[in-house]
Amino acid sequence: MRAAYFRGDGVIDIVDVPTPTPGEGQLLIKVAANGVCGSDRKILQGGFNLIPGHEVAGTVVEAGPGCQTRPGTRIAAYIPIHCGECPFCLQGKGNLCPNMKGLLGWATDGGYAEYMLVPDRCALPLEDGISFAEGVVLLDTIGTSGHALRLSRCWDAESVLVIGAGPVGIGAVAGLKAFGVPNVYVTELSAYRRERVAELGGIPIDPTTENVEERIRAQHPYGVDIVVEAVGTLPTIWQSMDLVTRGGIVNIVGEYWGKVELERPKGTWMINDMTLIRSFYFTIPEFHENQRMVLDGKLNAKGLATHTFPLEEIKAAYDLFDTGNSLKILVEP
Ligand SMILES: [Zn+2]
Ligand SMILES: [Zn+2]
Repeated sequence: MRAAYFRGDGVIDIVDVPTPTPGEGQLLIKVAANGVCGSDRKILQGGFNLIPGHEVAGTVVEAGPGCQTRPGTRIAAYIPIHCGECPFCLQGKGNLCPNMKGLLGWATDGGYAEYMLVPDRCALPLEDGISFAEGVVLLDTIGTSGHALRLSRCWDAESVLVIGAGPVGIGAVAGLKAFGVPNVYVTELSAYRRERVAELGGIPIDPTTENVEERIRAQHPYGVDIVVEAVGTLPTIWQSMDLVTRGGIVNIVGEYWGKVELERPKGTWMINDMTLIRSFYFTIPEFHENQRMVLDGKLNAKGLATHTFPLEEIKAAYDLFDTGNSLKILVEP
């Protein structure tokens, strides 16, 4: 089968490798689409010795012994390699499994290949009427942001600021509108993405030409009810704490592994009854709830997948992603 390898310094090789054989509890899927993700850009520079790709949808072509999912089933892949038996897994919260054996596409070969092995319990069946493109968007883009929004009980909010309209941020905008939040402000550098924000009913702000704090405080003197931080940098995390109202919620969903000093010069952390949430990925029941919202026409998943490239042109997909002139880009092996 054809598969992509990230060699480092932005070099991608497409090579022929043996198609894997599913073992006990494993499914072999024919990959239909794999989403381009900001978190893969680091390994694109640093290099990676496995096949990358962790936003995968495809069709089961072979099931190893002991699998429940049957060949022919269309699935998306839930990446936490969870145990299925702990108290968290029993509630469908595989993202919190303390026995997790890493993530698909990070600890195992991923979906930038024609075929991929997926543990049976990581198979999320797609309902009729959900396309593969929607299946991919329902993972990191809508799944991760939707989990953050549910943890923040966003339906109670009157105003929300989303910092960054990359795939997760734009997923948050779609989710906030689906949950009926009236004022959704979005700071984003890319003009292309600001236009998509406006199409979804959000209020775009260009932080290079507008003072974000003045713009927010003109309408919300004490700050917004919720800030969704979808960039993953210290300055934007601190900006979140500055712009949330007293008693409000800051949800950090952007990928950030560094330390965060909580006390700001304005003293917001100590005195403002702020709720700080650090959310990670999503639960399996939430995935099915999100599928239902797409099928009911409440959530626009299809519109969030903007571009498609064949596997042979995966480098061009990452180059486009770097320009900011895209939302979710799909690579189709
Ligand atoms: Zn991702
Ligand atoms: Zn578990």
